[in-house]
Amino acid sequence: MSETIRCDIAVIGGGPAGLAAGLYAARGGMKVLIFERQMSGGQIVTTDWVENYPAFPQGISGADLGDLMTRQATGQGAELVLFVNITSVRSNLRGQWLLESDTDASYEARAVIFASGAVPRKLGIPGEDYYTGRGVSWCATCDGAFYRDKTVAVIGGGDAALEEALFLTKFARKVYVVHRRCEFRAAAIIVQRAAAADKLEFVLSSVAREILGDGTRVTGLALDDARTDCSPNHLPRHSRESGNPALSSTEEIHTLAVDGVFEFVGVDPVNELLAGLDALTSTGYALVNADGSLAGADSCDGLFAAGDLTAGPLKQVVTAAASGALAGFSALQYLA
Ligand code: NAP
Repeated sequence: MSETIRCDIAVIGGGPAGLAAGLYAARGGMKVLIFERQMSGGQIVTTDWVENYPAFPQGISGADLGDLMTRQATGQGAELVLFVNITSVRSNLRGQWLLESDTDASYEARAVIFASGAVPRKLGIPGEDYYTGRGVSWCATCDGAFYRDKTVAVIGGGDAALEEALFLTKFARKVYVVHRRCEFRAAAIIVQRAAAADKLEFVLSSVAREILGDGTRVTGLALDDARTDCSPNHLPRHSRESGNPALSSTEEIHTLAVDGVFEFVGVDPVNELLAGLDALTSTGYALVNADGSLAGADSCDGLFAAGDLTAGPLKQVVTAAASGALAGFSALQYLA
């Protein structure tokens, strides 16, 4: 028989935003449940090293940072509910919110904070699905060690792509960063570090078209030439100009011989639970007011959102934690 468990504040998502929200809400004396469908810590635990979270001048591993945040939230009284997927949130018409899950239990909360974060985007090219787990990956920290002395391609030109490419140089013999433009979106300091790394080579103005394999494992990446002239002013190295032997070409299509492909082409917000509430941007991010409350119709009373799920110019651990703190604080004020 299913049971209904009551709490004051339900937090959906156990990454930096959800953990900070839970920390603040629990310190306000509320019964707080933090739901996480995987391990706690969120995307950060798959990041090798975090250098820009204040208070860690030497940096800290993503796993350690996630662990510290988890221990701090639970140490202050928030309760973690792991491996439970909340499948719907709806009003019970008595001023509370009913949360259904993929288990027998359902939950009732007076306020809900959505902090479900974002998931890595897929390219949607041929070979991607088939070779997932057979050479295609979205997590260098998880899979990097499988590529010791091998050759890999990293697709993308943002912070994640370049940071993870640098991490992969610890294992791989060669790391190609395949990017569709000549300029990188990543922070300048990371671009400079990548450009200086011995085992790393940029393949610019190149669009991944297909992941190739022998039926068992990835063997290469087919690339379309975006036909932009990436002059030497842009970056110091370019595969096609350096006569890279791993790159074979027929007119505009090039094949890069690699053993693995890591995709870091952005993230998509996990917004399914908000589908019925008129509070999403055109790109699917949660719209929030200045206090972190959902900016939808009146039916959003008692609903808040934080972290990578929300619209905003900066997606960092520090901004996720800060917006979680704000949502936790605002939920307390709402309940008061
Ligand atoms: P991002 O900043 O959105 O960059 C995505 C990259 O993938 C861009 O270079 C983009 O190319 C490329 N891309 C997108 N769609 C593509 C496609 N279909 N084919 C080929 N390339 C494609 O995403 P991210 O690097 O995952 O980072 C997400 C957020 O987390 C960002 O706000 C980032 O700053 C943050 N983050 C921060 C850190 C850090 O501070 N240390 C580390 C990781 C992530 P274009 O540039 O041409 O659009």
